[in-house]
Amino acid sequence: MATNRTFTMIKPDAVENGSIGGILKMINEAGFRIVAMKYTKLSAEAAGKFYEVHKERPFYGELVDYMSAGPIVAAILEKENAVADFRTLIGATDPTKADEGTIRKIYAKSIAANAVHGSDSDENAQIEGDFYFSKLERF
Ligand code: ATP
Ligand code: MG
Repeated sequence: MATNRTFTMIKPDAVENGSIGGILKMINEAGFRIVAMKYTKLSAEAAGKFYEVHKERPFYGELVDYMSAGPIVAAILEKENAVADFRTLIGATDPTKADEGTIRKIYAKSIAANAVHGSDSDENAQIEGDFYFSKLERF
C-alpha cells in the first residue's frame, strides 16, 4: 500500500558546506510536507545498520565512514507519490549523471558524497523512518 511518505537524509557533506537551507527550500517548493525532522549524527554502527542492504558492495566501508563522519538532517516527508517524486527531485546517484535542476546536480560533490538520501520504496521509507523517529515525533 502506498503511504505517500518517504524518508530523507541531508548527508554530512551537504551539512558541512552549508547546504541544509538550500536543500530544504527545494524540498518545500516541490510540495513535500515535513512530518518529522531531526539534526543528529550516526555512529559507525548505526550507519552500518542503516546501509546493511549494501553490505556486500565494494563501497560499503567507505559509505559507512562517510555517513558517520559528521551530523546529518533526517526527515520524513509527505506528498502524493512521495517515494518516486522525491527520487525525481534528488536525481541520479552519480551527480555527473543527474538531471539539471535536481538536488544532487546542484549540491552533490561525488557519487559517494551525494548530498541527500531518498528511500527507494514505500516499504523502505517505513523502515527508515522507524529507524529514526518514534510515533510521538511525527506531526
Ligand atoms: P541513497 O540510498 O543514499 O538515496 P541511491 O539510492 O541513489 O542513494 P544506492 O545504490 O542506494 O544509491 O547507494 C547508496 C549510497 O551509496 C549512495 O547514495 C552513495 O552515497 C553510495 N554509493 C553508491 N554507489 C557508490 C559507488 N560506486 N562508490 C561510492 N559510493 C557509492
Ligand atoms: Mg538507495
